[in-house]
Amino acid sequence: MQKTIGLIGGMSWESSALYYKIINQEVKQKLGGVHSCKSLMYSVDFADIATLQHNGEWDKLSEIMINAARALESGGAEFIVLCTNTMHKLADDISGSVSIPMVHIADATGEAIKAENVKRVGLLGTKFTMEQDFLKQRLADRYAIETIIPSASDRDIVHDIIYQELVKGIITKRSQNAYLEIIDDLIALGAEAIVLGCTEIGLLISPDVTEHRLFDTTIIHAKKAVAFSLE
Ligand code: GLU
Repeated sequence: MQKTIGLIGGMSWESSALYYKIINQEVKQKLGGVHSCKSLMYSVDFADIATLQHNGEWDKLSEIMINAARALESGGAEFIVLCTNTMHKLADDISGSVSIPMVHIADATGEAIKAENVKRVGLLGTKFTMEQDFLKQRLADRYAIETIIPSASDRDIVHDIIYQELVKGIITKRSQNAYLEIIDDLIALGAEAIVLGCTEIGLLISPDVTEHRLFDTTIIHAKKAVAFSLE
């Protein structure tokens, strides 16, 4: 029996499309035949979200996320998957507003990193994710994983490429090279692996373009969602 997944998506739709594809591929692989994933998606307008994020209006964002989670619950979702790292800043507000569970992206990622016995990772994501504690602290507290982040100027580069290119589906060699250099720097600083801690980064960086060990939060989170759905 599959539990129905409630996806909060649209942040951006480029990454929600990846989630939708991965969860269905995963169910097909696990159950065979013509099985596919039972899911609902509540997809927001990312223009509103990005503006509120950059204006620091997290109370308004919290309201939008809570509405989405409640709509999914009343529509029949049996658990919540929030398809963005950044908005996990509001994970407690969201999970506190519904009676169904939420599969936290940091828990899925922390378990995957711990399973490979990696202790120190480099983190790429939005500035919110790299600079604030909501993801890093959870990795440290629950999984004893230390996180290294890029320098301030490199954080600007990583962040701007996400909001100006990746969420619009724009993939360039120039930005890929910029990311690869920043990844090399994090490895030189002692990172054993790199966490792609933004759900669009997999569009730019994958094992095809680097030999460094990667933990892609989109793939890890989507697969964890399916595992939870089939428990
Ligand atoms: N999808 C991105 C993330 O995983 C960024 C978009 C957003 O701000 O939600 O953080």
